[in-house]
Amino acid sequence: MQMKDTNAPHRAERPPMHFGGPAGTLLLMLALPALVYYLWISVHYHGGALVVPRSLEDVRRLVGLIPLPTPRAVFMVGTWLLLQGLLQVLAPGPVVYGTPLRDGSRLPYRMNGWFAFWFTLGLAALAVWMGWVPATALHEEFGPLLSTANLFCFVFSLFLYFYGRATAPTDPRTGHPVYDYFMGTALNPRLGRFDFKFFFESRPGLIAWVLIDLSLAAAQLERHGTISTPMLLVCAFQILYVADYFFHEPAILTTLDIRHEHFGFMLCWGSAVWVPFTYCLQAYYLVTHPHELPLWATMGIVMLNLVGYYIFRSANLQKHRFRTDPQARIWGRPPEFLETARGTRLLLSGWWGLARHANYLGDLIMALAWCLPCGGGHLLPYFYVIYFAVLLIARERRDHRMCQARYGADWDAYCARVRWRIVPWIY
Ligand code: NDP
Repeated sequence: MQMKDTNAPHRAERPPMHFGGPAGTLLLMLALPALVYYLWISVHYHGGALVVPRSLEDVRRLVGLIPLPTPRAVFMVGTWLLLQGLLQVLAPGPVVYGTPLRDGSRLPYRMNGWFAFWFTLGLAALAVWMGWVPATALHEEFGPLLSTANLFCFVFSLFLYFYGRATAPTDPRTGHPVYDYFMGTALNPRLGRFDFKFFFESRPGLIAWVLIDLSLAAAQLERHGTISTPMLLVCAFQILYVADYFFHEPAILTTLDIRHEHFGFMLCWGSAVWVPFTYCLQAYYLVTHPHELPLWATMGIVMLNLVGYYIFRSANLQKHRFRTDPQARIWGRPPEFLETARGTRLLLSGWWGLARHANYLGDLIMALAWCLPCGGGHLLPYFYVIYFAVLLIARERRDHRMCQARYGADWDAYCARVRWRIVPWIY
């Protein structure tokens, strides 16, 4: 049966440009990789103090610290992508269908991330136990791995640019090469059943992030003979976040990225470089700062993380369940919703009746809990929560504009009912 087209743009036309168009996206592609190197150099060479270059010579010295890919790093990244790719194709897991596409069809996705995650962790533990790889390998090789992953994403996005144009000629594009390279030229580029966007959204980046954290904990143990409570907290919180993602993997099918974003440099680099190489900054910082926390602070941070997790997970699940089973009760009552002219329903119950993106609020509270264990000595470990607040505020505004374009007056009616953007009664 053909289902109603809920994914089509409001009007069949060139999509509007975001991020400042071609100039803005070009700037982002230059600035963001530079920022990741800057953060790494600050934490690796300066103990977490933000380096302020005062002369051209200082800048040259900083640039000179950017490592080239090494054969070991290239081997590690290649093996990693191959392993995760094979797991995506071969590991057991149910097939779940995505939301309807423009032509009414629905794409199948094999949900085997839970298996792939634990299998990879088990394999890594075995490799360390058997002495095939030192536990600190990812810490030792961090710089060259970052350079290799960067290069891979720039080249792979070029492939995506041409592949999308060739295989999805009707997907809306601006026609501007730089902008389309950044945003992607196809919504769902696939090779047979292998979905590039679904794969890169999680597998190589999220699992690598966890392994990097563990390698950083091993580096702390090697240097100081102990793993501190802050390191344990950061690793535990982030492992919980990633494990939770894979446990609820089908929920990604109703997110903005899968439903509406094309797959290009932005999502590829964001998932495979930005996430694993910057989200581990707190653990990286703790390698050289093995302080301890009083019990009250530890308990407070754990509570904060649990509150954030509850809001984040329950909000995302409410929307996902509602979209897959509109009768499912929310907070003990049948859901209220607004029926749009496009055929999609907008939820008005639960978190989605309190704020338009309460899921972002939960994520932000967790982000704070991941930074607090690092104490007050430096600003750098707080980079994550600061950046995340900027990202999510900008993301909410962008999603708002996209929903306005998609739903027109229906979106305005929804916003009149649900006034708050992210934090109920505040913002
Ligand atoms: P959402 O999952 O919030 O999805 C937004 C989409 O949901 C909208 O475009 C709209 O699409 C639909 N929608 C909006 N309002 C409603 C409603 N009331 N009822 C039903 N559907 C609605 O967006 P994200 O993908 O940004 O976020 C998903 C999660 O991922 C969040 O928890 C976020 O914090 C997290 N995240 C984490 C990042 C990280 O780096 N750790 C980065 C980005 C996000 P439509 O109606 O067309 O389906």
